[in-house]
Amino acid sequence: MNILMTTSEAVPYAKTGGLADVVSALSLALAKQGHDVRLIIPRYYGINKAVLKLKPLKGPMGIPMGGGEEWCEVYTGNLPGGPSKNPIKVYFLDHERFFGRDGIYGVPSEPDFLDNPRRFTFFSRGVFQLCRKIDWYPDILHAHDWPTALVPVFLKYGERRNEFAKTVSILTIHNLGYQGIYGRDNFYATGLGWDTFYSAGFEDWNMMNMLKAGINSADMVNTVSPNYAEETKTSAYGFRLDGILKSRGTDYRGILNGIDADIWNPKKDTFIPAVYSTKDMSGKAKAKELLQKEFGLPPSPDTPIIGFISRLTNQKGVGELFGPAYGSAYMICRDMNLQFVVLGTGDAWCENEIRSLESKLSNFKGKIGYSDKLSHLIEAGSDFFLMPSRYEPCGLSQMYSLVYGTIPIVRNTGGLTDTVENYNQDTGTGTGFMFDDLTPEAIYNTVGWAIWAYYNRRPQIEAMRLKGMKKDFSWDKSAGEYLKLYEEAGKKVRG
Ligand code: ADP
Repeated sequence: MNILMTTSEAVPYAKTGGLADVVSALSLALAKQGHDVRLIIPRYYGINKAVLKLKPLKGPMGIPMGGGEEWCEVYTGNLPGGPSKNPIKVYFLDHERFFGRDGIYGVPSEPDFLDNPRRFTFFSRGVFQLCRKIDWYPDILHAHDWPTALVPVFLKYGERRNEFAKTVSILTIHNLGYQGIYGRDNFYATGLGWDTFYSAGFEDWNMMNMLKAGINSADMVNTVSPNYAEETKTSAYGFRLDGILKSRGTDYRGILNGIDADIWNPKKDTFIPAVYSTKDMSGKAKAKELLQKEFGLPPSPDTPIIGFISRLTNQKGVGELFGPAYGSAYMICRDMNLQFVVLGTGDAWCENEIRSLESKLSNFKGKIGYSDKLSHLIEAGSDFFLMPSRYEPCGLSQMYSLVYGTIPIVRNTGGLTDTVENYNQDTGTGTGFMFDDLTPEAIYNTVGWAIWAYYNRRPQIEAMRLKGMKKDFSWDKSAGEYLKLYEEAGKKVRG
């Protein structure tokens, strides 16, 4: 199959979240199976053409915008890690005014750029112009989240009449919390008629909702775990799009993300002091020792460590964990014989609260910042990993924890439900500890349960670790499910 990933993020070029990892890892897994996979992404200011040795395609490219046209350059490179015989080509749309600035969607002083609807309308329209320019027409146009949600719209309401008659579109929702809702005055840039504004379902309380139009227009829609797919069809998790998602019937489903086994693998991790496996766990003890040292905790091999790595935002349950006066972290550390390490950046109140907890508690340590090295050390050196998420489309950290023998303590939601099995203290089965309600009490009690089991049911805890480490979260499995989705979409459109 010819597959074109249309995306606003992809590692190693531009990343704000899991979307960037998923797009590249999925592309690599599909290419490994022999498909012609290519990527198209904006050439943000931070993507250095010289360092990456990007080559220009000959001649500028015109992209219709409203009644006029915008011009850009196109650069190409190969995605690192792809097959050397048929490398994965990446096309970069280079438009100085839209993308020649700091930030992908915004900067701290302007978190959501005012011209984002126009930037990503331009980019989504450019996808089709690029295919014309290189005379390569994909079987599959795969869009991701609201920034490229207009790709399925342009295909359905225009381009399918042209060279794209056999092309089908897939839209993957990585996070329903971001929908690309802007003033309807931006709609002119799409060049579509006002009849399409209503028939494609852009209309949203007198605003324009880009993701909503994409969901209505794509041939197939998916999200990143089966349980989150179900949850998003309810008003509690649907962010007002539950009805529309439900209306897609079996054309909307969940496919669990994989994890990159080259990067997240205790058998070959270069960030930790010693590698380890189910056969020899001594490396995990060394990681724990170094973790205590790095965070300034007293060395103590027998004290359980709870790890927490996260964006510090409401989605991750940080209010219930760190909220001043009512969050559970303070009482957990005060009442239980454990150590607690935190790595994260995000909301200012939360960063401040973490610093304040550190000054009040000797067994609580937090680092504010982003560090790949420390995140690997925390995953390897901790005994438990806490994720009290409000909602979680898939979640990667709990899967990393499982394969590193670090037992997840999670809220029973989204992809966490699909990947963690609750502990049963009578039979000793399970891979983690789960709770349903997002309350400080539930977090406190479930951490308490895990710590109790650590001190009183140690053989069961050790067995749980090993069970988690044997889990298969490989991308090959998920790529197979995407191929099935592509084939079904193809049958639907092409018969
Ligand atoms: P989300 O994509 O919603 O942020 P996931 O669990 O799917 O949540 O993925 C988060 C990823 O980002 C994990 O790999 C986690 O280790 C990483 N991460 C989050 N915050 C930090 C940080 N401060 N430093 C290093 N890695 C981080």
